Amino acid sequence: MIEQNVSLKPYNTFGLNVQAKLMARVHSIPSLQEVLADIKLKNEERFILGGGSNLLLTKNIDGLVIKNELLGIALIKETDDFFFVQSGAGVVWHELVMHCIAHGYAGIENLSLIPGNVGAAPMQNIGAYGVELKDVFHSLEAVEMTTGKVETFLATDCEFGYRESVFKRKLKGQFIISSVTLRLSKKPNFNTSYGAIEEELELLGISSPTLKDVSQAVINIRQSKLPDPKVLGNSGSFFKNPVVATALYEELKAKHPTIPGYPAGDETKLAAGWLIEQCGWKGKVVGNTGSHAKQALVLVNYGNATGVEIFNLSEQIMQSVYDTFGVQLEREVNVY
Ligand code: FAD
Ligand code: NAP
Repeated sequence: MIEQNVSLKPYNTFGLNVQAKLMARVHSIPSLQEVLADIKLKNEERFILGGGSNLLLTKNIDGLVIKNELLGIALIKETDDFFFVQSGAGVVWHELVMHCIAHGYAGIENLSLIPGNVGAAPMQNIGAYGVELKDVFHSLEAVEMTTGKVETFLATDCEFGYRESVFKRKLKGQFIISSVTLRLSKKPNFNTSYGAIEEELELLGISSPTLKDVSQAVINIRQSKLPDPKVLGNSGSFFKNPVVATALYEELKAKHPTIPGYPAGDETKLAAGWLIEQCGWKGKVVGNTGSHAKQALVLVNYGNATGVEIFNLSEQIMQSVYDTFGVQLEREVNVY
């Protein structure tokens, strides 16, 4: 069934009240193919919606929103070392993480509590606490928008990078991801050295952690630092951490000795949150929006913000970081 004039407020974590002219919820590949082939919808602009947690909607959608609700998690193969787990694109990412932990499938425990759906995870190669989707990714299936044909993409086809993939670049808007298959380990290889995970495990009195313990530590840290979108509208990190030439980092370090920098291949990754904070934005309220008091990288909606207001704030922040450090920030959030 095609719904008309739908408010997208409940479907985006910024809580922005924009309208979609049409919306179709798809629960299977055939139902998706049917929508794509529907002659009455042929000329409508199409917009794919997952959990709406990486979106800034600045205007109404004068077309068809396809809400991906393909469910199901299945163990499709097992080898001596690995479990291959396939998940429908409409499964909530954190539910997949919890399912894997409960079954002893290791590798995504550091990615606990990331909002959104499985289908969007490859879009920006989601990452947190030193783990990225690409580390456990096996393949995905996606439906071509114009033909309805199902294609398989292996990791190399996805061109994963730092919060990047081919689906955000060359193939933008061309495919709807319908399922994702992960290759998860039978023997956990814990990655607890990143951020405050070790500290949190110590606080919990845990010296030999299980998958569940690591997940819980990550959940605790995230809940203590990040605003819950149900309480305060936001889309997580609004900007990517800029990766710059190491020579530029050294120059910046000479001027700003406390600037954090992390090796990223031959280059150096800066912390966008730190740069924004140094420019005085952390905790600043601008009209109905602002930069969050505990994490400057997160822009928030204090209730009545519009997407344009949040976009304008992001422009101001980008300009002041550029003026102060000569570093160009790039938005991580998908702006429509
Ligand atoms: P949506 O916002 O619905 O869509 C994002 C983009 O993907 C859009 O362009 C959409 O058109 C497209 N898309 C969605 N589904 C499909 C599909 N099936 N096929 C093709 N295109 C599709 N991200 C991280 O990487 N790490 C984090 O730690 C993290 N923490 C966050 C914390 C908070 C509090 C919030 C609000 C966000 C956070 N994010 C994080 C960002 C976000 O959760 C992820 O990017 C997530 O993968 C987005 O999923 P979604 O289903 O909500 O995508
Ligand atoms: P944090 O721990 O305060 O660290 C600030 C930044 O420094 C992070 O962005 C992180 O980069 C980088 N960093 C810290 N320790 C590092 C290390 N050992 N090696 C390399 N880089 C390091 O960050 P936070 O805001 O609380 O977030 C914690 C994790 O959750 C991060 O991985 C972050 O990406 C993720 N997160 C993502 C979003 C999102 O919307 N994308 C939102 C919230 C949290 P990285 O970002 O590259 O990891």
